[in-house]
Amino acid sequence: MPTPHEYRPALERTLAEALRYLGDLPQERVAAPLSGAELASRFRSPLPAEGTPAPEVLGTLVRDAGPGIMRTSGGRSFAWVIGGTLPGALAADWMTSVWDQNAALSACSPAAAAVEAVVGEWLKELLRLPRDASFAVVTGCQMAHFTCLASARHQLLAQRGWDVEREGLCGAPRLRVIDVGARHASVDRALRFLGMGTACVTSLRGDSASLEAVLAEDPETPTVVLLQAGDIHTGKSDAFERLIPLAHRYGAWVHVDGAFGLWAQASAAQRHHMAGVEAADSWATDGHKWLNVPFDAGYAIVAHPRAHRAAMTTSASYIDSAERTSEALREPLDWTPEWSRRARAFSTYAAIRELGQEGVEEQIDRACRWAAALVEGMGLLPRVEIVSPAVLNQGMIRVRAPNADATPSDHDAATLELVARLATQGETFVQPSQWKGQTVIRVSVCSWQTTAEDVRRTLNAVEHALAE
Ligand SMILES: *Cc1c(COP(=O)(O)O)cnc(C)c1O
Repeated sequence: MPTPHEYRPALERTLAEALRYLGDLPQERVAAPLSGAELASRFRSPLPAEGTPAPEVLGTLVRDAGPGIMRTSGGRSFAWVIGGTLPGALAADWMTSVWDQNAALSACSPAAAAVEAVVGEWLKELLRLPRDASFAVVTGCQMAHFTCLASARHQLLAQRGWDVEREGLCGAPRLRVIDVGARHASVDRALRFLGMGTACVTSLRGDSASLEAVLAEDPETPTVVLLQAGDIHTGKSDAFERLIPLAHRYGAWVHVDGAFGLWAQASAAQRHHMAGVEAADSWATDGHKWLNVPFDAGYAIVAHPRAHRAAMTTSASYIDSAERTSEALREPLDWTPEWSRRARAFSTYAAIRELGQEGVEEQIDRACRWAAALVEGMGLLPRVEIVSPAVLNQGMIRVRAPNADATPSDHDAATLELVARLATQGETFVQPSQWKGQTVIRVSVCSWQTTAEDVRRTLNAVEHALAE
């Protein structure tokens, strides 16, 4: 029978390995040295017939996985939009596993329900969203979109006398989604999960001036307007102040993808990008990006709690006990798409407590400063062109091919060449993207660990790679 005595060797080994990993992180190369194929063959092995003692399992896992671990949570990874992990958030995440609570119901974990409730209040205050909005702590922005858009689907159809939770979509009025900017693919996937399909989307491709015409063309159709708080390429946001009241005049539900950008609300210096965002109907954002909570943590916030609850709540004979209807505690299951779930609000609670409101603001401002320093610094290097100066924590550059008669595809190739050289060198890590028909390098700063020294080392690494 397991006793604390049996946990100790594995946990002590884990602590030692964790401290070694985190201690080395600031100096380590970012990209994993082993290729995918090498890792696959390293791990390919028959199903173990016999057991292995826990400390040994941990030891071999760390040994074998180590060369395939990306140091993305450190200070010199600027690829995708990936945050680091604050010490307090990591520690709380460990305790979350130690406690192993099922955070579905307050009866399963009163503490998880109570902490989640306060985390929701704190998030609304930090992000300056309506205090009477409802919320759900989910796995990421993908599931936050799903939760918010399910709430939208419920409300828009209920307003037309259709109970989508009972009747489904067959025979329902057709829903329409108008995407103003360049939506993230996770929105499309949420629409697929919701049975709305991706064909319901009309994309204005950034032409927000045409929103009124499109709404006016078909004012009766139940409509969701999608707005972006922080585009992953440009960092820019939609003109909430103008577009949200306009969409509301036509009875549309406005959903905001604020995976990282909504965190600008926590900064006096950056908040102007978000002017008017609080008037939307739902917001999706992440904890595992800019807040620096370990994976995974996302938040759905909905201005219409009744629609949110109606879209998510469920019941079963075995849980509808007296405890379920406890007045004192909010029931997570009423607001989330998951049933059994990790008590992931503990790590968000710890991150916010560790930083305080001032610390969150400082973390946001610092990342914006480093993004600007990186993009401007790279722009001073020979053959580097700034495609988009940093807005919030995102910017873009590209590399021009050296020959005078170079074609656009030569510039694309030169840009990819820089990405490849940087990956081989390992000092810093970026990823390419396609933007307006050209290959670019995105620079995205999310980790709390990035320092002035990391910025200097990165600019050095880029300079060297260009000179190779
Ligand atoms: C990361 C991201 C998403 C997806 O979020 P997950 O947390 O990965 O589910 C959606 N939208 C934007 C703008 C993002 O940056």
